[in-house]
Amino acid sequence: MEIKTDTELNTELNTLWKKILNNIELQISKPNFVTWIKNSLLIDKNDGCITIALPNNFSKEWVENKYSKLILNIAREYDNSIKKINFIVDNKYFINQKGSNIDSSFEKSILDLRVDPETGLNSKYSLKSFVVGSSNELAYNAALAIIQNVGTKYNPFFVYGGVGLGKTHLIQMIGNEIKNLYKNKIKPKYVPSEKFTNDVVWAIRNKRMDDIKKKYRDIDVLIIDDIQFIGGKEKTEEEFFHTFNSLYENNKQIIISSDRPPQSIPTLEERLRSRFEGGLIVDITYPDYEMRVAIIKNKLQEKNTNLNDNIIDLIAKKVKKNIREIEGVLNKIIFYKETKGGNITISDAEEIINKTIQNISKKITDKQIIKAVSDFFNITPEDLLSNKRNKEIVEPRQIIVYLLREILDLSYPYIGEKLGRDHTTAIHAYEKISNEINKNSTLYQKILLIKESIYKE
Ligand code: ADP
Ligand code: MG
Repeated sequence: MEIKTDTELNTELNTLWKKILNNIELQISKPNFVTWIKNSLLIDKNDGCITIALPNNFSKEWVENKYSKLILNIAREYDNSIKKINFIVDNKYFINQKGSNIDSSFEKSILDLRVDPETGLNSKYSLKSFVVGSSNELAYNAALAIIQNVGTKYNPFFVYGGVGLGKTHLIQMIGNEIKNLYKNKIKPKYVPSEKFTNDVVWAIRNKRMDDIKKKYRDIDVLIIDDIQFIGGKEKTEEEFFHTFNSLYENNKQIIISSDRPPQSIPTLEERLRSRFEGGLIVDITYPDYEMRVAIIKNKLQEKNTNLNDNIIDLIAKKVKKNIREIEGVLNKIIFYKETKGGNITISDAEEIINKTIQNISKKITDKQIIKAVSDFFNITPEDLLSNKRNKEIVEPRQIIVYLLREILDLSYPYIGEKLGRDHTTAIHAYEKISNEINKNSTLYQKILLIKESIYKE
C-alpha cells in the first residue's frame, strides 16, 4: 500500500479539486459559481468519500441541496472510486480569504480586528472621535446622561436618522464608554438587528430557543442597530419583545437605532412601538457647514495630516449628503495628496470631489434590480417578466417584487405593471417573501447576496 505524506495528499486533493471546479464552472452560472462553489475546498478523501469544506452554514446547506449530485458526477469522472460526499462547515480554511462575497456586512464587521468578540463593540467608535454640532447635540447629551445613569435615566433610548449620519457611531460609543467606565461590571452588547434576526431564525430551526433567551437576557446594556430590519418579521419581533420586557423590568438599559422614527416602521408591532415611545426618542439630522468643517478637521487630526483651509472649505461646501460621504471624499483626497508628495491643488481636489459625489449618488434603477435577480438565478429578464409559471421562475419573480418595494419603495400597481401582472399579485408576492425571509435562512441569504450585488455595481 502506498503511504502518502500530508503534503502529498494535500497537493493531490488540490489538483483534483481544481479540475472538478473548472468543470463545475462550465456547468452553472457565474454568479452561482462565485457565490456558492468557489469558496470551497476539498480537504479529505478516504474510503470512497470526499469531504468538502464550506465557510458557513448557508453555503453548506445550499451546496449540499443543489449541487451535491453535480459535484459527485464530475468527481467520479476523475476518480471513480468516489462514492459519497461529505459536506462540513469549517471557516478556519477561509479566514482572510479575499473575494469571498458570502460575508454579509455584519459578518464583515465582526471580522474587524477592533471588534471585541465579547460585546460586539468596535473600539474605533469612541466618545473622543465624535464631533458634536447642532445636528446631533440632543442625541449626544442623551448619550452622556445614559453613560452616567445606565438603565435609569432614558430607557429605552431610541435614536433615528438617515444613512451615514452617525447612529452606529453614537450607540457604539455609549457601549464603549460604559465598558471602560464601569470596568466590565456592566455588560454591554452590540447587535445589528440582522444578527438578532439570524440568531432567532437559527434557534427556531434548531429548536434552541432557550440558548437565545439566555444569551440576550444576560446582558446589562442591549444595543440594537437598525431595528427597522426586524419590522414585519413576526417571530423575531416576538422574541425581541420578550427580551425587551425582561431586560426592561430588570432596569437594564436598551438602546436602539433606526433609519426612521418608530411610527414610520410600518410593519412594527403596535406593542413594540409603544414600548419605544415610552422612552426617549431623538433624531440626528444633517450636519450644517460648521459641523462639516469640524468633522473634516477632526478626521485630519486623527490621521495626522492636514489640508489647506480653502480645500477644507471646498469639501465642506460641496459634500453635504452625510458624514460617511465626507469621510470617503476626504480619504481619497488625502491618498491623492500623499501619492503626489504632499501637494494637492484646489482643482485636483474639486475633480476628486465631483467624481466621488457622482458615484455615491448614482441611483439604483428597477432595471438594475431585475438584472441582479436575473444574473443571480441565471434566468433571462425576458423569462422573468414572462407569463411562465414554472417553480424556478416564480420565486425569483417574487424576489424582484420584494426588492422593488424594499429598495425603491415603488407602488404595487407600478410593480404589477412592470411585471405584466395586477397589483394584487404584487402584494401577494411581497407578503410571501417578507414572511418567508424570516423562516427560511437560505432565502434570507439569497436576498442579502442579491442586494450586495446591486449596491456593489
Ligand atoms: P449611520 O449608522 O447613521 O449610518 P455611522 O455611525 O456609520 O452612520 O457613521 C458613518 C461614518 O461617519 C462613520 O465612520 C462614523 O465614525 C462617522 N461619523 C458619524 N458621525 C460622526 C460624528 N459626529 N463625528 C465624527 N465622525 C462621525
Ligand atoms: Mg449604522
